Parts: sequence; C-alpha cells; structure tokens
Amino acid sequence: MTDSIALPCDGCGQTASGEHIARRLRRLEWTTRYRPVHINTLLLGAFSPQEERDFLYAPGGEFHGEASRLLDALEISTEGKAADAVHAEFQRAGFFLTHVLECPLGKDAGQGAEAAALLTKRLEPVATRIRRSLKPKRVVLISRALGPILEKLLALELGCPVVLDNGKLFEFDGPAPTNTVARLREALAGRAGD
Ligand SMILES: [Zn+2]
Repeated sequence: MTDSIALPCDGCGQTASGEHIARRLRRLEWTTRYRPVHINTLLLGAFSPQEERDFLYAPGGEFHGEASRLLDALEISTEGKAADAVHAEFQRAGFFLTHVLECPLGKDAGQGAEAAALLTKRLEPVATRIRRSLKPKRVVLISRALGPILEKLLALELGCPVVLDNGKLFEFDGPAPTNTVARLREALAGRAGD
C-alpha cells in the first residue's frame, strides 16, 4: 500500500494508487467513445473485470469472459471484425455496459461482506447517474455479485424498468453462463420489462 494516495477513486470508491487511477481513466476513455447518444439497454454489472481482455470496451479485441458472453447474448458476431467495428455495432444497437464499481475489485478488498459493502456505498451515485445522465429505456442486471444488494437496487429510483430473469439476476459470472446467454437473448427479444 506504499503507493496509495488519500483520495478514493471516483469510479469505485476504493483507495486509489496511481496505477489504479491510470487504469480507471483508460477504461473510462474506451467506454465513453462508444456510449450511444440514446441508450436503449443499459447492461449493469457489479465490478469491472480484472482482466482487460474480459472488458468489453478494451481495444485489443480479444473479447473473453464477460465481453464474449455479452456479445453472444446480444447476437453480435466478432468473426473477422476489428474491435472498433464490434464496439460500433454494440453502440448502434443502443447497448451500453457499465458496472456499479467501474474498476476491478482490489485484491485486498476481500470477498463477500466487504465487496457487498463497497457495492452498497456506490448505489446512490450509480442510481443518480442512471436517472440523470445515462437515461436508458431499461436496465439489465448481469452479475451474480449483485445478489446481496438486489433488493436495495430494485428499491432505487432509476427512471426505467429493470429486466430480470424470472425475478432473478442474469448471472454472467455464475456457474452456467451458457444458459444465461440464452435466457438474456430471449428476454431482450421478448419484452421491454419484466
Ligand atoms: Zn477505481
């Protein structure tokens, strides 16, 4: 922790090192580039992925993990396409991805209760951002890690419906992501709300 500075990161509330801030700004820049003017569907996860290749907006175009599953669920093919073409297609379809913590969970943040506490602290600012700035037509919750704060999240004023999987979260980080992909595809093809 020798490289820590006193200020918490504005994207996640965790104590931020210089390296942390640099990564935060990099991801913010990549994301902002592909933010639709009018957001149709906001995909909301718990934490930005640890690995850059799992982060949808990373310019490397590897699309692993969460990024790959989301594109699969939204039926956006990456075959033979440059990363920016994939990002542009995602944007044109009105999709935008963000996380309650816009940074990965720190290695020393622990699991469970501590992670849930960090998420809880971010709920109000995230709700305000959704309501006032992002203004999507609907929000889809895509992380199992949002489970401990689901009720609090649903009690927030977001200004739009929250799409659930029969009352539950879409667990892209759960044990059966393939099922989740299929169910989200169905939900998005069907109705706007749940
Ligand atoms: Zn951060």
